[in-house]
Amino acid sequence: MSDDLHTPDPRQHILPVYRPPEEVFVEGQGVYLYTDDGRRYLDFIAGIAVTALGHAHPALVDALRDQAGKLWHTSNMFRVEGQEQLADKICRDTFADRVFFTNSGTEAVECAIKTARKYHWAKGNPERTGIITFTGAFHGRSMAAINAGGNPKYLEGFGPPLPGFVHLEWGDHDALKAAAADPTAAAIFVEPVQGEGGVRAMPEHCLKGLRELCDAHGLLLIFDEVQCGIGRTGKLWAYQWADGVEPDILCAAKGIGGGFPFGACLMTEACAGPMQPGSHGSTYGGNPLAMAVGNAVWDIISDEAFLAEVRRVAGTLAQGLKSLADTHSDKVEGVTGKGLLTGLKLKADPKNLQGLCREEGLLTGVAGNNVLRLAPPLIITEADVREAVGTLDNALAMWQPG
Ligand code: PLP
Repeated sequence: MSDDLHTPDPRQHILPVYRPPEEVFVEGQGVYLYTDDGRRYLDFIAGIAVTALGHAHPALVDALRDQAGKLWHTSNMFRVEGQEQLADKICRDTFADRVFFTNSGTEAVECAIKTARKYHWAKGNPERTGIITFTGAFHGRSMAAINAGGNPKYLEGFGPPLPGFVHLEWGDHDALKAAAADPTAAAIFVEPVQGEGGVRAMPEHCLKGLRELCDAHGLLLIFDEVQCGIGRTGKLWAYQWADGVEPDILCAAKGIGGGFPFGACLMTEACAGPMQPGSHGSTYGGNPLAMAVGNAVWDIISDEAFLAEVRRVAGTLAQGLKSLADTHSDKVEGVTGKGLLTGLKLKADPKNLQGLCREEGLLTGVAGNNVLRLAPPLIITEADVREAVGTLDNALAMWQPG
C-alpha cells in the first residue's frame, strides 16, 4: 500500500459541518492573506465581514497585546472597565442607552429576542411573544436563531419548530400589516441588508415603513446589523441610510471586534428596564481582551472621516462591478448590496466562479443561491479595488456557468 493511504486526513476529528478549500492561511497583513507555502491572496471577504480593519491592524494588535499582559478574565461577577468605556462610546454615538456584550452575533440575537419578550411581559402583555421575520433572513445557528431565520435547510432534523416566530415573504405588505396587528406580535426583526440571504438591501422607505408599523401597533423594531453594521455600508449602521429611523434594539458583532470574537446587543432604556440582575448573562461576554480590541475598533470606525472614505471607495467598487455586469451580461444579472457588503448577482451557482477567483488570488464569498459576495476590509484602497475587479474580470471570462 502506498504511504498516501496511511496519511490521516488532518481534518478527521473536526465536526464536518464546514467545507473549506485546501488552502491553509498562516498570516494576514492588511488586505492580504498568506498561505503556508507563501502564496498571497487579496481578501475580499474578510472572514465574512469580520476583519473590518484588515489583518494585524497595528492599533488592534497593540491593544490586544497590552491587555493580554495584564488581565484576561474575571467574568461579569466583577466590573470590567473596558465594557463601561465601550458602552459609553456606543451610547454616545448611537440611539442606544444600554449595551449587553456577547461572544458572537447569535448571542446578540438571543439577547434581542429575550429583551423584546421581557419588555412586553413587564408591561403586562406576556402573550406578546411573536417575532416577525422575513424570507432570506439569517440570524445565526442557535435554536432561537434558526427559528427566527426560518430557513428550512437550517431547521431540518433539529426538532419541532419553536413557537413565537412568524415568517413573511419579503415584500408582502398585506401579510406584514396583518402580522403586525396581531395581538400576540412582539417585534419586527430584520437585517437592513440581508447578508446570507443574497446581499439584499431593504429599501430605505421600507425601513421607515417598518418603524411606522411598529409605532402604530406597539411593536419593537429590532435590526440585526451583525453583518451590515459597523461602517460596512459607509454609515456606522446600515439603517442610518433611512432618515429618521431608529430601532429599539440592535444586534452587532463581526466587524465590532475586527476579528476578535464578540458581539453586542444595543437597546433603549425602555427595553432595558425589565432586564434586571439574573434575567440574562454570559461568562465570557465583554471580557477584558474583547473590550480592549473593541474600544480600539470603535475609536477608528466611528470617526466620520473614516466612514466618508468607506463611502468613497465603495462607490469605486460599485462602478467596477457595474462595468463587469455590463461586460459579462451573459453571466451576470446585476450588482447587489450596499457599500462594502456587495456582490454580483449571477445567472448560475457562483461556487465555481468563487473557486476560479481563489485560483487567481482573490478571496470572495457566496450568498443565497446565486450571489458572489464581496465584503472586503473597510480599509481597502482604489488600487485594491482595481486588482479585485481585474481578477473578477478574468475569472468571469473563464467561468463556464454550470
Ligand atoms: N446575524 C447575521 C445577520 C449574520 O450574518 C450572522 C452570521 O453570519 C449572525 C447573525 C450570527 O453571528 P455569529 O456567527 O457570530 O453567531
